[in-house]
Amino acid sequence: MEMTPVCTERIGTDGCIIGSDRGHRRSKVPRDVEIDIEFLYKVVPQLAKVFRIIDKIGEGTFSSVYLGEAQMRDGRREMFALKHLIPTSHPTRIAAELQCLTVAGGKENVMGVTYCFRKDDHVVIVMPYMEHRAIVEIIGSMSFEEVRLYIYHLLKALRHIHQFGIIHRDIKPNNFLYNRSSKMYALVDFGLAQGTADTQIELLKDLTGLRKVPRPVFGERNLNSCTPAPSTTKQAAIKTESGKTEEPASRRYPSASRGPLPVRSQSSSQKPQRAMQQGLTCNCYQTDRVCNICMSRKQQVAPRAGTPGFRAPEVLTKCPNQGTAIDVWSAGVILLSLLSGRYPFFKASDDLIALTQIMTIRGSRETIQAAKAFGKAVVCSRELPRQDLRTLCETLRGRRPSPDDEVTPLPEANKDSTATHRHEIQDNTPTHRPANGAGQTFPNHQEHSQTNELTKHDSESDYKAEEDERGWDRVPDEAYDLLDQLLDLNPATRITAAQALQHPLFTDL
Ligand code: ADP
Ligand code: MG
Ligand code: ZN
Repeated sequence: MEMTPVCTERIGTDGCIIGSDRGHRRSKVPRDVEIDIEFLYKVVPQLAKVFRIIDKIGEGTFSSVYLGEAQMRDGRREMFALKHLIPTSHPTRIAAELQCLTVAGGKENVMGVTYCFRKDDHVVIVMPYMEHRAIVEIIGSMSFEEVRLYIYHLLKALRHIHQFGIIHRDIKPNNFLYNRSSKMYALVDFGLAQGTADTQIELLKDLTGLRKVPRPVFGERNLNSCTPAPSTTKQAAIKTESGKTEEPASRRYPSASRGPLPVRSQSSSQKPQRAMQQGLTCNCYQTDRVCNICMSRKQQVAPRAGTPGFRAPEVLTKCPNQGTAIDVWSAGVILLSLLSGRYPFFKASDDLIALTQIMTIRGSRETIQAAKAFGKAVVCSRELPRQDLRTLCETLRGRRPSPDDEVTPLPEANKDSTATHRHEIQDNTPTHRPANGAGQTFPNHQEHSQTNELTKHDSESDYKAEEDERGWDRVPDEAYDLLDQLLDLNPATRITAAQALQHPLFTDL
């Protein structure tokens, strides 16, 4: 990398003035960010020779991302994103993330990598900085055309990484950077990526040993893979794998061993052993109860990384054979979100709730049938009908009244309040209310209204006129057809990213 030291000026203790000649940020950073920056200079001292670290731009469970400026040999100053990985990340995991970026990155809307610094167990991945806005801030003002392009470019990135046998596993808007003015897109964050059986990323193959290897659950019949599944929703009980939350299996450095992780104690498998002697079927199969046999079963382990609301049904049910189709599902959830104007669309605290939410949209019978196709038994105590996607999205956009509700007029009191009509419409338009009462499955309105880019409207009709201007009155059937194929419950028939790019929705691109 052609970089020379740029900065001798250090961060002051009383809050430093940070300004870049590009006018990025000229304000003081908060004290805690300042402390983090000082810490980063301390643990990876080489950074100070190259970068002036300006701000923290992202913080997740596994990393902190900083904005840094470097002076290039030719005199230009360039901005970089510095991703500082948590020191407990497994070395192979880190190396695999880097290899994904170096092999597949830098083209086709996939972020590239410039350099990597390491001191002891601290690793900093340096990438070109891409300015971007959070989807939640812009979703309210996106036009249909903008949505179409966004999904097209996301699918391009997916096709590209899938060609290399990379499964990203954490496709969501936060990991797909979008610069609205320059129309640039970049897929980031390979921190959870896994390889397909024939992956070209060597280090992803090495990760297999780090994962808890999926093993058959004792006494499991193909279609009867239930383990303790406390019914978390009142209306719909799904019987599938344990809802126990686990950390994305391979992202953390297993504290004690690098070898296969210890299996659970013997005692828990005593009862199922008897059960198996008695036959493979337990007492609760096809009911909404969880029997003692199932209660005592070991937890089945399969890759389950990602964010619940974006997880594919085969991930939620811990299907051991997961492929690139899981990323396509997540792209479908993003499209659903953008077409309905709701972000996040599914908001679930655990996998069972997430699966129930999927059923409220895609239908319970359909979900059960698809799960059967990939070898999982899902039981739902009540039938949830499949929704028509256009009706659903238009209803959520406030373009048509909810089928089972009257339109609630805007309350008079709100007319003069500081709340905008856009906000009110969202709060008062009867939203899609799933028949099973899982109404909380949809984004809570408060969060939505806080973060959306709101514009003042004089009336509901002005709001509708603006929506029409953005093309929301003429969303073609192709959009919902593609959505339907992205959200195919069965990964075997789900459209691939390469096929999706050939969809009639994109013929002119
Ligand atoms: P994590 O594993 O912690 O989620 P990510 O790689 O997703 O780390 O980065 C976290 C956030 O940092 C991203 O959501 C994005 O906002 C920001 N970020 C990451 N890489 C870049 C980049 N190259 N340019 C600009 N911002 C970035
Ligand atoms: Mg991320
Ligand atoms: Zn059972």
